[in-house]
Amino acid sequence: MSASLQEKKQRLLEILRMEGIHDEKVLDALGGIAREKFIPDYLRQQAYENAALPIASGQTISQPLIVAYMTQELMVDDRMKVLEVGTGSGYQGAVLSKLCRRLFTVERHLPLMQRADELFRELGLLNITTLFGDGMKGWPEQAPFDRIMVTAASDKVPEKLLEQLKEDGGIMVIPIGGQEETQHIYRITRRGDDYETEILLPVKFVPLLGGIVHDS
Ligand code: SAM
Repeated sequence: MSASLQEKKQRLLEILRMEGIHDEKVLDALGGIAREKFIPDYLRQQAYENAALPIASGQTISQPLIVAYMTQELMVDDRMKVLEVGTGSGYQGAVLSKLCRRLFTVERHLPLMQRADELFRELGLLNITTLFGDGMKGWPEQAPFDRIMVTAASDKVPEKLLEQLKEDGGIMVIPIGGQEETQHIYRITRRGDDYETEILLPVKFVPLLGGIVHDS
């Protein structure tokens, strides 16, 4: 990494601290992943701006503060099996993989899935398994999950994802709300058949959509 990108990364980590990211493990995980690898080359110099950026297939890589915040609020540890819905660039998944035992990540756009898969191998992130599919259905063969993170917004929490959370304290973090309204990050904790919901931060995410897309 060039000296200036390294400096920009350090400045970004300071901003995240000032914005309330206090979990040092989360900050270390972000510090350990080269965000410039997950964005188009022409945006390289903007890799450490605290901003969402465009990626292929009309999608976005989330703002670093939101990545850090959602990761912190998911409360992951290194014994856990985690599902991410919405691989996108792969950046959020790479960060999660530093904190959990195994990460399963699902993406509905084939080119995004293929590129992220390549990057995970290149970066030696061997505890990540990818799936090209509709993440609204979860990943039943791998369920239950200690943690589920959804990185696209839905009007309501997909039933299949609730079912795939571990019964004794499984946690899901998901943006809820339509494209024309204020969305919020919800944190849902499962205890048996009870689901406790906390409404956290207002956010703006691309939509969670059903089906798969073979775009190029
Ligand atoms: N985690 C991503 C990252 O770090 O780049 C954020 C990507 S973007 C905000 C959300 C992603 O969710 C998009 O790539 C979109 O295609 C994907 N997505 C939307 N609905 C989906 C679904 N039902 N199943 C899987 N992926 C979905």
